[in-house]
Amino acid sequence: MKFHVLTLFPELVMGGLGASITGRAIEKGVISVEAINIRDYSTDKHRHVDDAPYGGGAGMVMQPGPVVDAYEDLCARIFKASGKRPRVIYMTPQGRVFNQSIARELAREEDLVFLCGHYEGIDERALELICTDYLSVGDYVLTGGELPAMVMIDCISRLIPGVLNNEASAEEESFHDNLLEYPQYTRPESYRDMQVPQVLLSGHHKNIDEWRRKQSILRTLERRPDLLEEARFSKKEGKFLAGILRERLLQALPGEESCAEGKIPNDTGEA
Ligand code: SAM
Repeated sequence: MKFHVLTLFPELVMGGLGASITGRAIEKGVISVEAINIRDYSTDKHRHVDDAPYGGGAGMVMQPGPVVDAYEDLCARIFKASGKRPRVIYMTPQGRVFNQSIARELAREEDLVFLCGHYEGIDERALELICTDYLSVGDYVLTGGELPAMVMIDCISRLIPGVLNNEASAEEESFHDNLLEYPQYTRPESYRDMQVPQVLLSGHHKNIDEWRRKQSILRTLERRPDLLEEARFSKKEGKFLAGILRERLLQALPGEESCAEGKIPNDTGEA
């Protein structure tokens, strides 16, 4: 997988991705990252790449010329090597919000180009000419597209075989099947009087898997109930979730004495 970043701040991108797991993957040659400085394509003697917006208003806008020229140079190189035109993703708060399933889809590409804006953004004509996708990291506005590009590259890289030491870990993590990951523990067994759950010390793999799966369901229900709509459960897990929901519903009902005592009417045959 080759990542190409069109940016005004190449050092930010290379510095950020050159460390830790992505840095090691670059060293091993499992992924490659290059940052192309859009400013190198300025034709202005002061290397300006921005100008005031037509129609007035605050801030500056990146001009189309340097952006398109930088892209065309890069695209010609990629085309020569692979015979394909790459997807070009503009980092923008106006895009589809990036998530794990978009990451999985993008991880199937050979080359990906990330276009980072600055100031008030990039002249619309350049975007129309070169962009195939518009992606956001969330409903908030940042000063530039470099951090979003780094977030996406980091996330996609983890899905490339050989980037993580333990391939299974990406498969068990949060969002893998629309559930959040179960809680994790490591040594020591007791910390400030808090114990590691007994089942994890039992060595009984089936019980551990079951406990983890239940914890995932509970955690998703607590923190991201919206995800559960798309999650898939076994019959047994569906019953477990239904039981919890019923219990919570009953606890929330006002003035039900049986609930206050912690009894579930269905269980006692009262309702
Ligand atoms: N004026 C633009 C608007 O309202 O849509 C925002 C421009 S922002 C200050 C500058 C650049 O930061 C954008 O061109 C984009 O590349 C990047 N950016 C800001 N927020 C982002 C987000 N949530 N997701 C992805 N990129 C973002």
